Amino acid sequence: MKPPTVPAPDRDLVVNETFGPTFQGEGPSTGRYAHFIRLFGCHLSCTWCDTPHTHDPTRYDLTAEQRILSIDDILSWLAAAPVDLLVITGGEPMLQPRVLERLLLAIRDRSLATDIEIEIETSGTIPPTDLLTAAATRFNVSPKLAHSGLRRHQRIRPAVLRHLAGTGKAVWKFVVQEIDDLDEVQELTEAYDLHPVWIMPEGTDSSTVLTRMRLLAEPVLSRRWHLSPRLHTLLWENDRGR
Ligand code: SF4
Repeated sequence: MKPPTVPAPDRDLVVNETFGPTFQGEGPSTGRYAHFIRLFGCHLSCTWCDTPHTHDPTRYDLTAEQRILSIDDILSWLAAAPVDLLVITGGEPMLQPRVLERLLLAIRDRSLATDIEIEIETSGTIPPTDLLTAAATRFNVSPKLAHSGLRRHQRIRPAVLRHLAGTGKAVWKFVVQEIDDLDEVQELTEAYDLHPVWIMPEGTDSSTVLTRMRLLAEPVLSRRWHLSPRLHTLLWENDRGR
């Protein structure tokens, strides 16, 4: 039997998938031409997680779901296509901070890549390193609400939220199911001074997403927040690699 591949520390990323071009489907860059790196692994277990294949061994063969890619592999992939916006998502990208630092610095070092915007999507439970903060364009932070099924101390880390807010690079994207969930968002945004705020409906099919967007639209407007679709879901349902 072939032994499992072991990633080299600080040189290899454990990746679930790379894909693009596609559209960024969520948050402030919705609709933008984008490429994605979906990193493997998450320390949380939201009941409605839309990417369980990155970390849930009860439903997926995780050995088949992970790929070891070197920084050079990823730089070659990026060089093969014009990349304006690179979205690093997961899973939880902050679980691989050192190699992610090296990747971002390598991208920034390439003379043709200085203008690539890099968004890192995170649950806001692990702080970014200083190097990641310097190299990233934006953190799309998605603190989880009670309906995630997580206990509060698992999903809300006050020091991490304050740290991310202090970077000046964080936008806050809350996954919402019901109008009443907005009160919980309000409590968090006021407690930790989180802004700007995007509200995004939970759902992995276009019908659910659209129904919830329509339900949430007026209440979100009345709180002067932003509303995010899940554009990839509206266009392609729950297809992988979109
Ligand atoms: S934090 Fe994200 S990747 Fe992790 S379980 Fe929750 S929704 Fe899934």
